Amino acid sequence: MAEERTHFDLIIIGSGPAGFTAAVYGARGGVSTALFGGVAPGGQLLQTTEIENFPGFPEPVIGADLMERMLKQAARLGAAIFREDIKDADFSQRPFRLTAGSGKVYTATSLIVATGARARWLGLPSEQKFIGRGVSGCATCDGFFFRGKEVCVIGGGDTAAEDALFLTKFASKVYLVHRRDQLRATFRLQEKLRANPKVEIIFDHVPEEITGEAKADGIVIKNVKTGEKRRLETPGVFVAIGHSPATEIFRGKLNLDDAGYVAVNETLGTSVCGVFAAGDVMDTRYKQAIVAAGSGCKAAMEALLYIEGLKQ
Ligand code: NAP
Repeated sequence: MAEERTHFDLIIIGSGPAGFTAAVYGARGGVSTALFGGVAPGGQLLQTTEIENFPGFPEPVIGADLMERMLKQAARLGAAIFREDIKDADFSQRPFRLTAGSGKVYTATSLIVATGARARWLGLPSEQKFIGRGVSGCATCDGFFFRGKEVCVIGGGDTAAEDALFLTKFASKVYLVHRRDQLRATFRLQEKLRANPKVEIIFDHVPEEITGEAKADGIVIKNVKTGEKRRLETPGVFVAIGHSPATEIFRGKLNLDDAGYVAVNETLGTSVCGVFAAGDVMDTRYKQAIVAAGSGCKAAMEALLYIEGLKQ
């Protein structure tokens, strides 16, 4: 549990695989390390059910269980885990000043931003009900569970196109439902979609409701031009309408790219010396737990070198 001290050599903001891995490396690296993980530490994996692609687990592991293990591991090694958010960051002075949700100010010699990115959701009440029960924001994570079943993907960008193609490996049929009459996805991906007999693109339709009892069993979509509704019997509904990186508190303080992701150099340094970023908050491409964990390790190793350099 968190202690009374307010200065740490290394503070990590974020409690997904990147944050906890950074905490493990920081604590084992011999520097005082704290992680601010929000009221419910665990990040996006709390929303997934079974995870089968994280090495070391021969049997599927529940997302929340995996994150609990990571938290315990970081705490056992000596990282202070704070179950609160950081609401404000001040990089204009050193050590960096971080204001927690409680209003308490903490200082850090080095900081790792591992606040993640949230999959954007459609905003339907029925969608919330079935997240992890048929509704998913990650085809790579959950596609395997829909072997031999029909699924649909919502969205028209590269992610939706790639997800639809990926899902054809498992599903018997993949509907790609897009709100306009033209995909945003790159031409090459569009060609691949059209060439795949398992894919049916449904243009000009928006999701209205996800149906089901304990689990999703289909989706009602509406034609935006005619108002006509139809139901697809798809127990798998993959929402691929983009991600939002959690970088609000860093706007104007760290360089962000056009989509709001933290811009980093090769060694995961940000535009502020001593501030590093890891995981989905800087990853526009892979967005996988194991990749995030790897980048958390890298960021912590770089932060350790930075802290060590200041001591010399
Ligand atoms: P994106 O390019 O922003 O596409 C989001 C898609 O979702 C758009 O087609 C959009 O429709 C649709 N959409 C947004 N809000 C919606 C809503 N409320 N209801 C229904 N549909 C909605 O996001 P992305 O596909 O995740 O890609 C993000 C970035 O990563 C892009 O720059 C992309 O090129 C890149 N990326 C690259 C690769 C690759 O190189 N292999 C793979 C994946 C992603 P509209 O088209 O009507 O706006």
